[in-house]
Amino acid sequence: MLNLKINKRSSYMAKTIQDKQTTQVVQVKGIHIGGPEFTVIAGPCSIESYGQFLETAQGVKKSGANLLRGGIWKLRTSSKTFQGLGDSSFDLIKRVCQETNMGLVSEITDARQIEEVYDLVACFQVGSRNMHNYSLLKELGRQNKPVLLKRGFAALIEEWIQAADYITGAGNNNVILCERGIRTFETATRNTLDLNAVAYAKKNTNLPVIVDPSHAVGIRALVPDLAYAAAAVGADGIIVEVHPRPAEALSDGPQALTLEDFELMMIKLKKILAAVERPLHK
Ligand code: PEP
Ligand code: MN
Repeated sequence: MLNLKINKRSSYMAKTIQDKQTTQVVQVKGIHIGGPEFTVIAGPCSIESYGQFLETAQGVKKSGANLLRGGIWKLRTSSKTFQGLGDSSFDLIKRVCQETNMGLVSEITDARQIEEVYDLVACFQVGSRNMHNYSLLKELGRQNKPVLLKRGFAALIEEWIQAADYITGAGNNNVILCERGIRTFETATRNTLDLNAVAYAKKNTNLPVIVDPSHAVGIRALVPDLAYAAAAVGADGIIVEVHPRPAEALSDGPQALTLEDFELMMIKLKKILAAVERPLHK
């Protein structure tokens, strides 16, 4: 007799949507992520110099960005490419954040960096490649500072939510989930933005959920469209890469918006946010 075993891991089973969660607000330097307003985090992929970071910060602030992004240590696929300025950038970062009065969201790639940048960053970022680094997540769970947790590019939604539990379970409830695109069979774009995951995580967790359209699509001209989709699907914000001169960027130039692109995107984004009754954070 044929013995048919049902493989529960590979067969789709409709999940019960809990839909009784209210999103908790995570405060990052006075910005309420997950509240009634929509948050925009913008800045370069990598912090390259005082001039580049200041020009970007001033430009994105003028167009309405609420928080800055910028990489200090870069986990690049190739070890031969730019790895970030590391600790030599600390002074310039302090100056730019003070001069613009903006909080910084920045990735730490190693638990030893938590202490090094504790006073420099308003929110720690865990990159896609480190979503499964449970010892790092547990250490971040012992900190009194928000954590933006990117989804692993090949992680199930459930694994991403469970990764967040490592942080909250260790005592730090200030976690923001970030969908940044997953690897699929498609090669026309860098990754595939999983809007399902945004809707699912919003309904099944009480954590704020934001979208990174830059790493999701990897193509400058398409980044704004995905940012609009994020706003329409109910994300609590976006984190987007901007560079004053993308052709000179030391990392991720092809997906960086220029300051002008960013300004135009913000104008249309505000209209979409108005339509979904979700104003941009002031
Ligand atoms: C980044 O935001 O700079 C980054 C490296 O993104 P990800 O971890 O999503 O690849
Ligand atoms: Mn990048």
